[in-house]
Amino acid sequence: MKIAVFPGSFDPITIGHESILKRAVPLFDKLIVAVGKNAEKHSYFPLEKRIAWIKEVFKDYPSITVEEYSGLTIDFCKKVAAQYILRGLRTSADFEFERRVGQINKQMHPEIENVFLLSLPEHNSLSSSIIRDIVSNGGDASQFVPKAVKL
Ligand code: ADP
Repeated sequence: MKIAVFPGSFDPITIGHESILKRAVPLFDKLIVAVGKNAEKHSYFPLEKRIAWIKEVFKDYPSITVEEYSGLTIDFCKKVAAQYILRGLRTSADFEFERRVGQINKQMHPEIENVFLLSLPEHNSLSSSIIRDIVSNGGDASQFVPKAVKL
């Protein structure tokens, strides 16, 4: 059984995340969206809300589940018996960041493979932080989040 973890903050989930996950469905038997509880990185939206949104977006996708986690992503992968870490790549900056983390993870845990999907060109400029900026300034970011997400 091919199990992948898609880790992130999802603060909030965007149509960029949604696209990567839907495109990954045919590649894996099980996809676990792992929502990080990072003590240093104070989130804008509460964890419960971020998780509830993801559950709602993927309610018709039985292979996609959502879990919260803290600590190292690699340790979470072991806990859930995942062999793959899935990440999205938008820009060369994403690539450089992912290359460093992915290569160190691979050296420490050779049994876990990193899998990257390129973002669709129309999602290249989209990030959760831009959405937080729009929302916190009273703007309408609805076109950038899945329909089920009511910001
Ligand atoms: P993190 O804080 O770990 O970067 P995010 O929630 O921002 O978590 O992102 C989770 C994953 O989704 C990362 O692999 C990121 O590159 C990817 N991602 C974020 N935004 C997009 C987008 N617009 N298109 C494709 N992938 C994206």
